[in-house]
Amino acid sequence: MNHITIRLCLAWCCWLVLAFLAEAAVTTRDEESGKSQIWARLLDDAGRVQLPTKFLKAFPPDFIHFEFDDLRTYAAEYHPDEHRMVLNRSLSFNSAGRTLKPLDKMTHKELEVLYHELFHAYVDYLQVVEADSGETGHRSNGLLHFAREQQTCRYGEVEIAPIVQRKDETESRYLTQAESWEALNETWAVFIGWAVWNQLEVQYKAGKSMFQEQRQAHQWIRRLKVAFETGDLRGYYVPEDPEERRLARKRHLAKSSQLTLKEAEVLMKQALGFQHDFIERLEDSFESSKASAC
Ligand SMILES: [Zn+2]
Repeated sequence: MNHITIRLCLAWCCWLVLAFLAEAAVTTRDEESGKSQIWARLLDDAGRVQLPTKFLKAFPPDFIHFEFDDLRTYAAEYHPDEHRMVLNRSLSFNSAGRTLKPLDKMTHKELEVLYHELFHAYVDYLQVVEADSGETGHRSNGLLHFAREQQTCRYGEVEIAPIVQRKDETESRYLTQAESWEALNETWAVFIGWAVWNQLEVQYKAGKSMFQEQRQAHQWIRRLKVAFETGDLRGYYVPEDPEERRLARKRHLAKSSQLTLKEAEVLMKQALGFQHDFIERLEDSFESSKASAC
């Protein structure tokens, strides 16, 4: 091969590499603008139908990577390592699996599932921020700080219900750090989904916002009381011990280890952004059961 041929070959190779890099950059930009568009529409939709937006507004618009699939075992999944949310195809526009369906076209159940997963993503985001700012010595977010406190005092030793249907049969468990963090995360996400589903239900029947109508607010608070009484606000964890995992893939917490009123109030204030007077009304009606859990 003479010098001119070698030079031509090199030039061709360089051109190919540059063309590939340029295409990759365009694809990444497209992906980012796609993510931002989904996020902007989600926020807009949530605001319009008066669903909570406080914790959603904390995210950068391209933080979550949305995917759609035909999920059979679970309605949705969130993978913190890649900030990836996999939703059932039914939550996508025209079930085409490309972009999120408008929120006002979703069923109450679908919105419950979506908010549950969005909350997992929020905790993931707070941890990412904390890890980044750890180097510069910033203090961690208030909700994350409260979560760590609750993890230590409430989720390190829990009661579980080995058979989910038999709520009264319970056993004690000491949880590892990972297990207690998962148990807290699931319990809190269950409450976020519960709060949204019940807001939609009480508003749907009357066609009025529960933040403007006392009657609807009262109904939501009444539902919360019943949920505490029946032990509905319980999370789960996947046991780390292979022996325990052979017995049960998931361990569901028992009623005595469900969410506390204190945790619910902090989540209403700091994640959902419920108004002050709403929370005051709630505190008044729970006056007798205001014991501190820690
Ligand atoms: Zn979950």
